[in-house]
Parts: sequence; structure tokens; C-alpha cells
Amino acid sequence: MTARWSLSAAGLALAAVALPAQGAIAPEELAPGVTLVAGTFVPGHQPDGNSVILRGNKGLVVVDTGRHAEHSDAILAATAGMNRPLVAIINTHWHLDHVSGNPRLRAAAPGLTVYASSAIDGALKGFLAESAKAAEAAIAAGEVPADLVPEVRADIATTANGAALRPDKVVNRSQRLKLGGRTLDVHLARTAATAGDLWLVDTRTRSLLSGDLVTLPAPFLDTACPGGWRAALADISNVRFARLIPGHGPVMSRPDFDRWRRAFDRFIDCAKSSADEADCAQGWTQDLGTMLPGGEQRRATEMTRYYVQVLRANAGRNPNCNLV
Ligand SMILES: [Zn+2]
Repeated sequence: MTARWSLSAAGLALAAVALPAQGAIAPEELAPGVTLVAGTFVPGHQPDGNSVILRGNKGLVVVDTGRHAEHSDAILAATAGMNRPLVAIINTHWHLDHVSGNPRLRAAAPGLTVYASSAIDGALKGFLAESAKAAEAAIAAGEVPADLVPEVRADIATTANGAALRPDKVVNRSQRLKLGGRTLDVHLARTAATAGDLWLVDTRTRSLLSGDLVTLPAPFLDTACPGGWRAALADISNVRFARLIPGHGPVMSRPDFDRWRRAFDRFIDCAKSSADEADCAQGWTQDLGTMLPGGEQRRATEMTRYYVQVLRANAGRNPNCNLV
């Protein structure tokens, strides 16, 4: 999630809790050569997306690099023990919780190649520039809780140095890539969660990395085109996979994904109807049931309630559906 200055609206500005230290983010090998560095979403802070390290016989590929330094430190610590060079980053999309670590990883491995869609170019001129301006104003007006100011300033600095986030190689069509000795089927979804989302399948382990096309506790709809997003979910559902690693939240099975997708469809339909926004939010939480980790129901409800407002504000002329 990137959000304009909307932490409280999205229900994130609850009691501030310290971010976990690097050692607290323990990498987990989900399948041979597939290691998850889980993103955190601490109340009162902005999230980090999940990162995945793919280990091939010739090198390492990191999919998404998080937002906070604690997260990229955890990625670098995990790669250090793998005895292979870091050869590539794949960014599933340009939200700051997935790309902010790019410069730090590049500094550690100057020869690596960054792969992503070109959607960040429009975002740097539009959404991200506007977000940084709104955040500056919010800090100046004293609207940002004191202990959150450093990470908001970090986001502003990341955006100001936005050229360092851009891909070396633009992925402008779905294709098979061989990186570090690993074979990846990379899919491009236009106008979904952003104007260009990548999702990929590691062919050896049938691990599907969905980026923010699938997330818990709620879909991050700030820059979304719901129709394109639905089409991307239909494409994902046509693929056989052993596990789905979402952009945020725990690893999912096939039945988990099917349940999540049904909840997404029902939520979008509800937002399009004249139903009360609280009912749409409650429907999302109920549809997911036990898939929402304990204690996440409240945040899921607050976030989806906010996103009903976002979707309704864009209804009929959603600018995110005209970005290709
Ligand atoms: Zn995200």
C-alpha cells in the first residue's frame, strides 16, 4: 500500500508499536530454493510487502524489496548465507512497500539487473509525487504522529530519488525468464492493482508469486482498476500452483486463493452497489473467515470500508483504468 496521506483513513494509525528488529524477520524456506522474507504490517506503521528469494545454481533473484531498512537488511542477511551472487530483482509493482529496498540491494550487488513493468514512470510523475507533496504538508501541519515522521520522511526521500527505483529491463509482455539458473514464467497484468503488475510462477516448485493481486488483510485498492484486477485473478486461477505467496500475508493454498477471489468479487460488486459501506466491509471479513489471522478482522474492516469510499469516488471514470 502506498496511499496518499491517508493512514488514519485506512485504519493504520493505531497505537504505534516499534518495528521489529532485523533478527525478528526470520526467513522461511517454503520449498527448495524458495525463501520467504515476510513483510511486516505493524499497527501505526506503513507495511512492507512480502519478499521472496529464489536460489538458482548460478545466482539469487529477489522478488520485491520492501519499504523499511529493517526489511532490506533481513533480505541481505538471508542472501549472505546462500553463497551465490545476487543477480536480479523483480519488482511486482511500484508501490513503495515493494521497491524502496532496490537502491540498498543494488549497493550491495552493483551488477544486478532490476526487472519491472514501466508503470513506475507514470507513478513518479503522478501518484508518488502527489503523495510526497501531501505528506510534506501533513508533517508541516503537525498531522503525522511524531514517531511516524521518520518513516514518512523516508518515503519522501525514496520518491525524490525515484530514478533509482526504476527497472534496468522493462517487462512489457508476459514471458519466460531464466535468471540465476531459475526458470520463471513472468506474467504482465495491465491496469490491475497498478498500471502494470507482474506475477510469476517458479516452474520448478510451482510457487506462484502474486504480488499485490492477492493480499491480506485486505486488497490495497488505492491505485487499482477493479475490472483489470478481476481479469488478472482469472488468469491466475487458470494456472496450476502448489502454493501462492501473496504480496502481504501468509502463504495460501489453492482453496485459500479460490476463497479470497470469491471474497474480492463480492466486495467489488458490493462497492458498485448502493449497499452501506459498513456492510461491504463486514462482508469481506465474513467471507474470509479464518483466513484472516487473529486480531486482523478489525483492520480488514477499517481498510475495506475506506476502499469502498475510494472506489465510489472513482466510479464510472476510474483514471486507473485508462493508464495503458
Ligand atoms: Zn503492497
